[in-house]
Amino acid sequence: MTTLYSVIAEAQRNAPVDPAALARKLGIAVKPMLLDDDMSGALVKVTPDKYEIQVNALHPETRQRFTIAHELGHYVHHRALLGEGVNDNRAYRTTQGDKLFNPKIGPKQETEANRFAASLLMPAAAVERLRAEGMTTAQMASHLGVSQHAMSIRLGVPYEPA
Ligand SMILES: [Zn+2]
Repeated sequence: MTTLYSVIAEAQRNAPVDPAALARKLGIAVKPMLLDDDMSGALVKVTPDKYEIQVNALHPETRQRFTIAHELGHYVHHRALLGEGVNDNRAYRTTQGDKLFNPKIGPKQETEANRFAASLLMPAAAVERLRAEGMTTAQMASHLGVSQHAMSIRLGVPYEPA
């Protein structure tokens, strides 16, 4: 049986995980767009039962991948709260003064979306395997297609830019 979680597990079989391909598999279009530099992206309702993910096309690749995964987290966990959608600034917080500001998405939901994104892009089993292989934080980040900052948070180690 195809369930949401089997689709996610399938997407995690190979590193790096492709969050845009996963989104498309879930029927969500991913649109790289020219957004303000302080905006990471948004999840937008386009028809009553269809969403699209907008992502800041000028941000680094690793950041775009994390943004797509974060918006998927909102889609998976917060659909009942989404209404017309939600925007996310650089800190992954919904921002006032935009039509996609969503007061129902607070710090708790943002944390949930970040956890979803981290688990999607840096699956526990893969992290354990790479650690056992003796990879450094930087090597793991490169292998999994995430920033060294995101990788450090996932490993619970201090972030030390190279
Ligand atoms: Zn968010």
